[in-house]
Amino acid sequence: MIPQLIAGARKILFKFGSNTLADRSGRINDDFLAEFARQGAELMRGGKQIVLVSSGAQVAGLSTMDKWARKRDLHYRQALCAVGQVKLMDAWERAFAPQGIHIAQILLTRDDFSDHTRTLHMRNTLFTLVDEGIVPVINENDTVSVEEIKIGDNDTLAAQSAILWSADLLVLFSDIEGLYDKNPKEDPTAKLVDRVRDIAAVKVSVRTGGTSSFGTGGIVTKLDAAELAMSYGIPMILAHGGKPRALEALSAGTQRGTVFLA
Ligand code: ADP
Repeated sequence: MIPQLIAGARKILFKFGSNTLADRSGRINDDFLAEFARQGAELMRGGKQIVLVSSGAQVAGLSTMDKWARKRDLHYRQALCAVGQVKLMDAWERAFAPQGIHIAQILLTRDDFSDHTRTLHMRNTLFTLVDEGIVPVINENDTVSVEEIKIGDNDTLAAQSAILWSADLLVLFSDIEGLYDKNPKEDPTAKLVDRVRDIAAVKVSVRTGGTSSFGTGGIVTKLDAAELAMSYGIPMILAHGGKPRALEALSAGTQRGTVFLA
């Protein structure tokens, strides 16, 4: 099912969680980004269009301003993301450059999605970039996003962006193989769910405690993202981004994941 979904989609939005982008020491994993860029470029050469939603500003900021690691103050956290966002985009730029592909930064807030004029401009900019063969990299604009006006997690941002761009497929790359019937990091007997048709039913049956070390959303926001995307007829795949050549393996059917499709 996953190979068919990828093969059949022309416009694919990929979202990367912080843990997928960072290595064990908490730095942005350049090798991983380069490997994804190679696979993404291959898809583009095959006629597909891609947009990325990338977390990781805070992680990238922390590896630059490590003395701020213990600062919990909101303004320091926002400042950290402002420092890290540059590093993050620099890393994506270096990853795509050998493929001869330019990237573009798009920073969005929750308000942007509820304002008709703004969504129109965002949509037009996205279409223009993609039509020109540029890869847009979207993230939440942390400088202006305080708790009350935050989208808050990039899973939701990814689903909203997929809808805005009218994507054919949303792929969330996380540090987990897919959705399990319980948190596999707490219970080794947890079983992978191959396909979800009904999010409401899954929310009742699946146990969803805990997030990984850098993650903000956890599995609940991934289910919310799937629900939102599915309500617009966009299927979603949740898969492990950290496996070797994950995108190719998913396309070839050699890597498992969870498909959300009604
Ligand atoms: P990301 O940084 O990719 O957004 P998160 O850390 O926010 O990832 O969320 C993924 C984590 O959710 C997994 O690493 C896992 O520990 C946790 N989790 C909790 N319940 C489940 C479940 N039922 N199935 C899969 N993962 C789960």
